[in-house]
Amino acid sequence: MQRYFGQVISNQVLLADDDVFHLTKVMRARPGDQIEVVSDEKLFLCEVKKTKPLAIDVIKSINENHELKNKVILIAALIKGEKFDFLLQKATELGASEIILLQTERTIVKIKPAEKELKLERYRRILKEAAEQCKRTRIPSLYRVIDMEGLKDVDAQVKMIAYEEVSGVTESFNSLVRSIKDKQKVAVVIGPEGGFSKEEVDLAIDAGYAPVSLGKRILRAETASFYALSVIANHLERK
Ligand code: SAM
Repeated sequence: MQRYFGQVISNQVLLADDDVFHLTKVMRARPGDQIEVVSDEKLFLCEVKKTKPLAIDVIKSINENHELKNKVILIAALIKGEKFDFLLQKATELGASEIILLQTERTIVKIKPAEKELKLERYRRILKEAAEQCKRTRIPSLYRVIDMEGLKDVDAQVKMIAYEEVSGVTESFNSLVRSIKDKQKVAVVIGPEGGFSKEEVDLAIDAGYAPVSLGKRILRAETASFYALSVIANHLERK
């Protein structure tokens, strides 16, 4: 069943224009069709009453929660082109609650101030579509672009920076993941194609981020993000 993020106000459903188009023109919805709508992180079963103009009624609320029990923040260096789109999509599927864009010494992709809002809007569309597809009730937030200095302002209790120069032993990563307690926020920093400089890692360590290895092989930035998020999600959902 198709899921949309919208607004439910006194049993009436409001969808964004592009979702109205998708429902009526792409899905060719008919009166009687049912859809799921998420509003303020609550899920509702709804029914299309009319299509011209579109009118959707709430049938009932559904008690369902597919979110990780801890907030997991992915702080990801910008990487080139579609790889970053792919990274955003997979981070959503793996339960990230927030994505923070990181600009480092070696990030090839720079976000110019004039294009920032347009880029963030496009990234948010990717996050929304991925959250609808994987049946989440929360779209990862994305509003911050920081540099390494900004790491110290991220509110999290379990903080790690994936650093490929650390020995290939994943024990430090695993024990940090195992140490996550209820309600603690987790922050994971992943570098760009060219990796981190030693000075950048020292800055992260000073800000309370533990340097961790993700194994013996050098992973692409997007792979490193999936690996780290997969291990964290697997641990948090093991029971
Ligand atoms: N500087 C690396 C090299 O020597 O080719 C490339 C960086 S890698 C493509 C991008 C990012 O993924 C790194 O900055 C790090 O955050 C993460 N990463 C990749 N492999 C890793 C590993 N084995 N352990 C920890 N982090 C890793």
